[in-house]
Amino acid sequence: MSTRHNPIVRNDIVSGHAIRSVVAIDEPEHQRARALGDLASALPSPEALASHGAVAGRIVTTPDFHPGKPVPVGLVADIENAVIPHLIGNDIGCGMRMIVLDDIREDDLEPDLEKHLRHVFFQGGRDIALTGWDRHAALRDGVPGLLESLAGKRQGLLARLDLAAAWADVARTSDDGCFRSDAIDRDFADYAAPDDRHRHDAILGTIGGGNHFVEFGVIERIVDGGLARIAGLKPQSVVIVVHSGSLDFGQRIGTAARERARQNSAAALDDRIVSEAGHADHYRRYMNGHANAANAAFVNRFLIGLAAVEALTRTIGRTVAHRLVYDAPHNTVWQAGSTVRHRKGACPARGPGTLKGSPYEWTGEPVILPGSMGDGTWLLRGLGATDGMESSAHGAGRRLSRQEARGAKTTLGGLRVIGPIDTASPAMRGRPDILAELQGRLKEEAPAAYRPIDQVVDPMVATGLVAPVARIRPVLTVKG
Ligand code: 5GP
Ligand code: MN
Ligand code: MN
Repeated sequence: MSTRHNPIVRNDIVSGHAIRSVVAIDEPEHQRARALGDLASALPSPEALASHGAVAGRIVTTPDFHPGKPVPVGLVADIENAVIPHLIGNDIGCGMRMIVLDDIREDDLEPDLEKHLRHVFFQGGRDIALTGWDRHAALRDGVPGLLESLAGKRQGLLARLDLAAAWADVARTSDDGCFRSDAIDRDFADYAAPDDRHRHDAILGTIGGGNHFVEFGVIERIVDGGLARIAGLKPQSVVIVVHSGSLDFGQRIGTAARERARQNSAAALDDRIVSEAGHADHYRRYMNGHANAANAAFVNRFLIGLAAVEALTRTIGRTVAHRLVYDAPHNTVWQAGSTVRHRKGACPARGPGTLKGSPYEWTGEPVILPGSMGDGTWLLRGLGATDGMESSAHGAGRRLSRQEARGAKTTLGGLRVIGPIDTASPAMRGRPDILAELQGRLKEEAPAAYRPIDQVVDPMVATGLVAPVARIRPVLTVKG
């Protein structure tokens, strides 16, 4: 399948590190060169790592690898005895969640759904009433923490939650929806101060801007009947895909970590590296805060999923039974002994036999791979390839920068897209400036700004990183 001109696997030396890359089909050389350039400035050299008692292990890039400042997207890096916070960025825990709906057909996604989605996500209709204890439990112990805290009297959205079903979904979540933390980081004390009052949450349950989204789609093809059966997917099943992260939580942890590093580092040392031996307090605080933020992201996607189901429930006037297919983060560090595995824009794709106690133990880990609005989304399963660091691409990846996409002659065609501002509302008629700005922002996310998804999937299948399970056709997209 590979040709001499465009081999699927490349090996490069970047900042003194050997990098193995699985490359997208027809990847333009200049784009790859730019991304590798960004990687060269982002990666501390082996000498800098050694001066902190740290050592780099394997490093790979995925076929959606693309430039990003300060760190390119589509990267997996093992570091011994240290964490490099900027290698995963500030949107700690950002990830994808896929939910399948029972007894719902594409016809049920009728125009009224747009009205209800707009109300739920942009017009204060989210009604997520949490107590301080709930918030505390969520940040400290992720989805299981929140569910434990929720047992009892509830209001709003949470009163209609099927707790038993939600508990069953935990086993379909990467890391059981919880990164271990010992405490709530001081930076979150104002948000998670324990108390008994129910307060409507202004943060969790928000999609966030940029390319975060909620998308309704339909299963158009099933390739792997075994995993599909476990996941509850049938041809024509309606699914919801949620892409969101830790919002302000990751930002605070990332920014605070950078500030501390700047203050603490001797000028000669590389302040990107936080080693366990050299900066014990800083290391522990980052890892703990990272866990809080990653837990916030799990809970955020959980609540967004409930809100999306709620909008559909209001549309069709009856309860919508649903269950999780999978939920996993793609901007996170996983610690195993002295090894810290950094994934920035890369999904875990662990193989059969590794997810103990999960319904997917013997299939391999589900990987949710969205393309763009209008393109397909793939559900894949991980094969645990060690030379691919048990990882997969996390999307199609940008082909055009935001600026290039704004200038390009792209059209949005007949896509059904809902945004924070209702462009059809009478108030918008007199505001061509706002409409133009919105159009520009949507163009940044138009299908032409991304690689065709199959150019990313095919080389991963060919190199044995993943196997295909099902293809989803998007129907309706909500952009944050
Ligand atoms: P990131 O995590 O790097 O922000 O983006 C994840 C991926 O989501 C992108 O690489 C892109 O392929 C995909 N994506 C962005 N916007 C949309 C959308 O509106 N719909 C779908 N299906 N995928 C999208
Ligand atoms: Mn994100
Ligand atoms: Mn993301």
